[in-house]
This record gives sequence, C-alpha cells and structure tokens, in this order.
Amino acid sequence: MSLPTPEAHLSTVLHAVESRNQGEPEFLQAVREVLDTLAPVLEEHPEYIETGILERLVEPERQILFRVSWVDDNGKVQVNRGYRVQFNAALGPYKGGLRFHPSVNLSVVKFLGFEQVFKNALTSQRIGGGKGGSDFDPAGKSDAEVMRFCQAYMTELVHHIGEHTDVPAGDIGVGAREIGYLFGQYRRLTHRYESGVLTGKGKGWGGAEVRTEATGYGAVFFAEEMLARAGEGVAGRRAVVSGSGNVATYVIEKVQQLGGRAITASDSSGYIVDEAGIDLELLKQVKETERARISEYAERRPGAHYVAGGNVWDVRGELAFPCATQNELDEASARELIKNGVRAVAEGANMPATPEAIELLQEAGVLFAPGKAANAGGVATSALEMSQNAARSRWDFDKSENRLHEIMRDVHELCYSASERYGKPGDYVLGANSAGFVTVAQAMLEQGVI
Ligand code: NDP
Repeated sequence: MSLPTPEAHLSTVLHAVESRNQGEPEFLQAVREVLDTLAPVLEEHPEYIETGILERLVEPERQILFRVSWVDDNGKVQVNRGYRVQFNAALGPYKGGLRFHPSVNLSVVKFLGFEQVFKNALTSQRIGGGKGGSDFDPAGKSDAEVMRFCQAYMTELVHHIGEHTDVPAGDIGVGAREIGYLFGQYRRLTHRYESGVLTGKGKGWGGAEVRTEATGYGAVFFAEEMLARAGEGVAGRRAVVSGSGNVATYVIEKVQQLGGRAITASDSSGYIVDEAGIDLELLKQVKETERARISEYAERRPGAHYVAGGNVWDVRGELAFPCATQNELDEASARELIKNGVRAVAEGANMPATPEAIELLQEAGVLFAPGKAANAGGVATSALEMSQNAARSRWDFDKSENRLHEIMRDVHELCYSASERYGKPGDYVLGANSAGFVTVAQAMLEQGVI
C-alpha cells in the first residue's frame, strides 16, 4: 500500500482533529501551528506516517474532568470544574502545570497540554506532557477559601497523580501558596511524603532553588542565545514585557541583570511604563506580597505612569517578552512592534502571539522564539526538582541557575540545528516543533501502538 504524501497526510490528520474537537479554538490553533511545520520531517521519516504517530499524538492519552465542591467564607457552597489532561507519556511521567483562572475550559487545558508535550521533549529531561486546572478564580478570595478550594481539588486529583505517573506544578493563578495547600492535602490523603509528586514547592520542604525564577530567566537566556548568534545581545536594549506575575517578574529581573532596561509590566486591567527601568523591589511588593493591581505600582513610583486598558505593545522597545496569556499579541500589535524597531520577541507565556502576528514578525526578520522553547526553563527546573527530591539532595542557587542556563543553551541549539536541517535556518518555530516532534515520535514508534 502506498503512503500518502506528507502534505496529504497532514491535511487528513488536521481535518480529523477539527471535526473531533469542534468548539475548541485554542486547541485547534495549537495543533494547526505544529502540523503546519512538519512536512519536511515526515518527508525524512515516512515510518511516522506508516505507524500513525500523528493520529495518536493529537489525541490525549487520558482526559479527566471532575466536580470541585467547596464552601466559601459565607458558608455558601461553590462548585467549580476541575481538569487534568494527561496528553502523552512516551518520554516520562506526565508533567505540566495547573491553571486556576475563570477562562479555563477543556480547549485551553488541551492546548496547554499539547504544547507541553513538545516543550518537555526539548528539555531532554525525560518528562511527558500534561496540563490541568480549574475555572476557579483566586482573585478576591481569602487565603482560607483558596486553601479549601485546593483541598477539594486535590481530593479528586489524588487518584490520578504520583511521582512516577503525573507530576503537576504551577501556572496562572497557581504559585507557591497553592502548591503548598495541594501538597498538604495529598500528604494527608495518602499518608505518604512523596515529595516528587508536585513541583514548585516551598524551599524548606523539597522545592528547588531557582524554580520560581526559572521560566522568566530561561526566556531571557533563550533571547540572549538568539541575539548572540547574530552578534548582538540584551545589554543596552529596551525591553517591553507584558504580565506582572511569576514569568514577567523574573524576565524583568534577568533583563536587568544582563544590562538591558525593562520598562513595562501589565495585568488584565492595564499597563505601566517606567522609563527609568522597573523597580523590582516595588513590583514584587505590589504583586507578590500585596497581590494588588499593577496600577498601584505607578501610584507609588515617581516618573512611572499607568495606562488603563490600552495595549502594552504600543510601547517602543527592541525586545518584547509577552508573559501574560494566550493570543495577547495580535497582528496589529506585531505591526506596531515592527514599526517601533523590535529586534527579538521571546514568548514567556504559552501561545501569546497569534499565528498572523508570528508570520508578520518572521517576515520582517525579527528573531522570534516560540513559547515551547523560550519558556521551557520552568518545566526543566521542575524536572531538576524531581531528581533532587528522588536523591534527597539539594543544589544551591548558583549550581541550579548554571544548570538552567546550560539547558536553555541546549534547547536553543536543538531548535537552531533542526531549523537548519529542515531548510529554514533561524526559524525557531519550525526548529522547536520539529525537534520536539522527532523526539516524541521516535519514542512512540519504539514503544509500539498503545
Ligand atoms: P501568574 O498568575 O503569576 O501571572 C499571570 C499574569 O498574566 C498576571 O499579570 C495576569 O493579570 C496576566 N493575565 C492572566 N490572564 C490574563 C488575561 N486573560 N488577559 C490579560 N492578562 C492576563 O502566571 P504566570 O506568570 O505563571 O504565567 C504567565 C504565562 O506564562 C502563562 O501563559 C503560563 O502558561 C506561562 N508559563 C508559566 C510557567 C510558570 O513556570 N509559571 C511556565 C511556562 C509558561 P491579572 O492578575 O489581571 O489576571
């Protein structure tokens, strides 16, 4: 039987995914973006067509949906929906964060899980891909409410995770506080101190150094690698950053450490501009300690100003780091960035740039790092946390940061070589997708049809 051409095969798979996952726009966007780049890989590996690798890769191995009931501070019963999508474990236990945000639905969790499969492969840390979360909104909730919600969420999740099965971590709305409550409940329900079941733990009880900083630092390391290839660097450049959570904060910190000037941060209400460079201590005080809005920063910082609503990508910068959420950088924003002389864009968030924006940026010769590669430092450091937990050891900050730096260099190299191999040197979207895909596909091939 003759095989279809790579293009025909990709089109058949895409149609099947579209008809089977109607009403899931984010998931379809993520799948399309990957399939669009894989023809040259399938040309080289017809055995992946023959063994149905793609048909299997686009279907999660397991999808878990559950009710999460809890009681708020007024004694009222609240009901949320919980998710865990175990996408692919060919390379190791499922690994990926939990997102607590009102916009979470199955499409969002599946797009994140799908991306995670390739990202985790790029880290070479032997971890599979998964993602989870809930439509619970931590904003405005008391500590006690967040704790009760986390306990209720874990009461179901406990049946599906384990250090050799599935290892969740944080994402939007899930930081050290939530991981602490989740771990406490896991320990209580199982009677086991299984440190490696969650990552992003407190440093006093199994959390790795640099895990908090890793995603942001890693994104800047990746940008520095891309720029270095072109004989350039971060130093002396203005950086526009969106978001003001975990990823954004540590992107700003590393840009400053490398001699650049990060001048913006944002949240879902608006953005701030601080031409003197973001005062990190104040940012952390406002966002991490007080959990206040970003507008508060401008209230307290002379010379900074706040723009309600608006679009942070209107601000001029040579570097751009979208670190908030999916589809936050659209075609019009990309045009504005190009007009203002942007040189490199590195995605700290997952899928923040729309396909149209990516195309425009690449056509304009802007260096573009997709999230799968640029934000892989977080999950890579989570894997380092798992191995430290298993060995009952603890690395210091410098050793952990050096290892993260090395991993990001390797991820960059892997993506760059794949972009060369498949015909478009410097196309990091092609590079990340194809290098990640080949690693997972080969493992799936060798493990048989399951
Ligand atoms: P946080 O919850 O710490 O911060 C999220 C930030 O993004 C906040 O400033 C938030 O503002 C803003 N934001 C969230 N949703 C929206 C929205 N719909 N519109 C506008 N702004 C929004 O999350 P993280 O920093 O951890 O995550 C940010 C991104 O990075 C996500 O895409 C995540 O998947 C990705 N990522 C995170 C990793 C990690 O290690 N934490 C690892 C890899 C990727 P507001 O408070 O107003 O909602």
